[in-house]
Amino acid sequence: MRILVVEDEPTLRAQLADALRAAGYAVDCADNGVDARHLGETEPYDAVVLDLGLPRIDGVTVLKSWRATGRAMPVLVLTARDSWHEKVAGIDAGADDYLTKPFHMEELLARLRALLRRAGGHSSADLRCGPLVLDTRSGRVTVDGRLLPLTGHEYRVLAYLVHHCDQVVSRSDLIEHIYEQDFDRDSNTVEVFIARLRKKLPPGTIETVRGLGYRLSEPR
Ligand code: CA
Repeated sequence: MRILVVEDEPTLRAQLADALRAAGYAVDCADNGVDARHLGETEPYDAVVLDLGLPRIDGVTVLKSWRATGRAMPVLVLTARDSWHEKVAGIDAGADDYLTKPFHMEELLARLRALLRRAGGHSSADLRCGPLVLDTRSGRVTVDGRLLPLTGHEYRVLAYLVHHCDQVVSRSDLIEHIYEQDFDRDSNTVEVFIARLRKKLPPGTIETVRGLGYRLSEPR
């Protein structure tokens, strides 16, 4: 899952990016409203963390512009302390949730997980796909209760497939949702990650749908 972080305070931006990467997300960052608006319009983010007080274009305007152009990704806005009118403006502009600064990183991560779950139509923090369970809180994946050891990129690929259980996911979808913007994207590496995952999973868990992509489903 790929997240856009929009925050102009360098320290907080770095803390957010570090925490989100440690939680298994691919993270892009913007430090102003103009770059944020462009990235949100052109890249397929699974969710956005958006500070409202931004240089060049404020966060509410950025959010309104995304919504006006049909960008529907979940957006968590960050508001200044005691600024109830910012919260109202953010929610009216199309925010899905908000957090007031200062906040605990654990709370931000929990709210983001909830947004991603809801966007995917999942009601529980444990995402199930056949014998496979992804605990979105710990980032652990188990098969029939057995912990699956995964590298960072293997986790990103598998987490995206689990969020889209029983759906066909194209290779380009995977590339766009597991890599950060600056990463040198080589589509062959996706095949390498899929091949490694297949070795770790019960046979048939990841199907190849010819010409379309991959589907994670219960082994038949
Ligand atoms: Ca700010």
